[in-house]
Amino acid sequence: MHVEAYHKVSTLEEAYELLQTHDSAVLLGGGAWIRTGSKPIEHLIDLKELGLNTITETDQSIIIGAMVSLRDMETHQGIKQLGGGFLSEALSQILGVAFRNTATIGGSVMGKYSFSDVLTPLLVLDVSLHFYHAKTMSLASFLSQRGRFRDILTAISIDKTPCKAMFKKVSNTTLDFSIVNVAVSLVKGRHKIAVGARPSIAVLAESVMRWLDTIEKPSEMILEEAGERVVADIKLGSNQRAKEAYRQQLVKTYVTRGLKEVHGL
Ligand SMILES: Cc1cc2nc3c(=O)[nH]c(=O)nc-3n(C[C@H](O)[C@H](O)[C@H](O)COP(=O)(O)OP(=O)(O)OC[C@H]3O[C@@H](n4cnc5c(N)ncnc54)[C@H](O)[C@@H]3O)c2cc1C
Repeated sequence: MHVEAYHKVSTLEEAYELLQTHDSAVLLGGGAWIRTGSKPIEHLIDLKELGLNTITETDQSIIIGAMVSLRDMETHQGIKQLGGGFLSEALSQILGVAFRNTATIGGSVMGKYSFSDVLTPLLVLDVSLHFYHAKTMSLASFLSQRGRFRDILTAISIDKTPCKAMFKKVSNTTLDFSIVNVAVSLVKGRHKIAVGARPSIAVLAESVMRWLDTIEKPSEMILEEAGERVVADIKLGSNQRAKEAYRQQLVKTYVTRGLKEVHGL
């Protein structure tokens, strides 16, 4: 990685000002992804000294600083309790421990990676993003925005309302990117279904979620229909990892399984 100017900032204000002043400036999280690029970086802003590496728990939520590593998230006791531990389990499937000690939640959210195994499980929780300048927004709204977002993510917060949840990553080997991934949750009778690595970025199957919410005790048949509806509702595609038709089969199968699991069927 070739860096022309390295800025070790000590305040968020300083980091934000540099980001606005230099159009080509890049914020440094764990640097695992940035390092894979071949283009020289004119201005690199290191966020390490800003104290964004803590996890705080309140009665209602868990607040995770943007510089918290994926490994610290995975092993946090409060996060292990969320949805029966499905988020910790999802994180544990990303490469090895040494890698997860480097990669941060900030870089994982702001990178908006289409293959992400982080965004899909987060989408089925109630997650808010906190920025230095922009107003707090939901993860789903952030992901639906196009174009560059020139702000600093300071933290994400996850609502702790008890829920049942499931995550499934489908990949050729444990070190590969997902062919597709699926997350499902049930919170106070409300369903959330997310599909990622479609191969495009993770999305919620909104219309199927709303339909399921209207059915008091969905039968196995209804949950199987939900799996089919998700395939019809969400755009799936082909890439070098899998053809669309294969992804359709996987999504139908794992959405149905996930829904049965959260309903205890
Ligand atoms: C070889 C490799 C394999 C991977 N495999 C997987 C996988 O299988 N599944 C998976 O889910 N993920 C995978 N990832 C992605 C990884 O989990 C991280 O999401 C990724 O490395 C980004 O995290 P980082 O801390 O390294 O971010 P960085 O590389 O530091 O930054 C990434 C981007 O986010 C921006 N950024 C960082 N922090 C902030 C902030 N606080 N505010 C605003 N912008 C910010 C940076 O400017 C940059 O644009 C892989 C990554 C690599 C390099």
